[in-house]
Amino acid sequence: MQYRRLGSSGLQLSVLSFGSWVTFSKQVDQQLAQQLMTHAYDNGVNFFDNAEVYAQGEAEILMGQALKHAGWGRDTYCVSSKVFWGGEKPTQRGLSKKHVHDACHAALKRLQVDYLDLFFCHRPDPNTPVHETVFAMNDLIAQGKILYWGTSEWKPNQLIEAYKVASRYRLRGPAMEQPEYNLFNRRNMEVDLVPIMHTYGLGTTVWSPLCSGMLTGKYQSGIPSGSRFSLNGYEWLTDRYHSEVGQARIEQVAKLGDITHGMGCSLAQVAIAWCIKNPHVSTVLLGASNVEQLKENMASLAVVDQLDDALMAELNGIFPV
Ligand code: NDP
Repeated sequence: MQYRRLGSSGLQLSVLSFGSWVTFSKQVDQQLAQQLMTHAYDNGVNFFDNAEVYAQGEAEILMGQALKHAGWGRDTYCVSSKVFWGGEKPTQRGLSKKHVHDACHAALKRLQVDYLDLFFCHRPDPNTPVHETVFAMNDLIAQGKILYWGTSEWKPNQLIEAYKVASRYRLRGPAMEQPEYNLFNRRNMEVDLVPIMHTYGLGTTVWSPLCSGMLTGKYQSGIPSGSRFSLNGYEWLTDRYHSEVGQARIEQVAKLGDITHGMGCSLAQVAIAWCIKNPHVSTVLLGASNVEQLKENMASLAVVDQLDDALMAELNGIFPV
């Protein structure tokens, strides 16, 4: 495993980390969650990602049970949660001081930990003044409930507004942003975030490196049963797959297969290695519905050196920014 600093913070995260969206509770039960997290941890992963909205809190409950059962020293791993979609009532959503406070305490309970290492604003909230959220996050830091706070899918102007508030009141601004980043979706990271990352010491914990599995090649001739695109509740993924964009992606993946043929690794490994290769990425959040996938994906580290300038240029040609 390799470890990278989270932006300009002193926190060293494993460059591959493990998340629970879609999988925990829907596809992965307690026993499998335990196996997946143990495999990750035993191979150097030190960051586990979660959110209040994942399976409406059930994903955090499973992760909390797995952490408790594993008995790893609390100083040997990091765990996160995200606040935004906590429930249907107006006070259960968004980034008000109340919901940030309630969501953090509920996550601590479900995860069975005394503090969260990373706590994310899952989306920007147009209905809460940003200074209210910055103060709420800093209160949680002062109380020792969270160590670092960050954002997910915030635009540069929204991040800069948060940094201005933080600087004016001598508070902590976002330490990390969590954007989608994969061969299909490069703009958020490469165009929007990179220009401001250095100025603000921002780290990135990037999500969906395989674009929900599309980049594994498993969807090249239809939707396999049991795969993410076949799950109830994820029809939007199926719709996207059948759209013009989805069909264009099938062609891009076919070309990826052509140029990586003979490399002795899988498409998934090339796609993940490509994310790792970007030095602006602090950690790549992996997702897996079984141990074989996780083993395959973790072996991507060994593929990074094969991505030389010529191959990167070919990838840029197929997957432009
Ligand atoms: P990926 O894009 O890597 O998709 C993972 C899924 O792809 C797996 O669950 C599995 O689905 C399939 N898959 C993975 N590896 C393989 C393989 N080797 N062969 C075949 N199929 C494979 O990541 P996720 O979308 O799961 O995102 C990772 C994490 O990022 C999440 O758990 C979460 O922590 C975070 N995230 C954050 C978001 C945010 O808004 N901040 C949004 C989304 C994710 P299956 O077997 O079911 O087909």
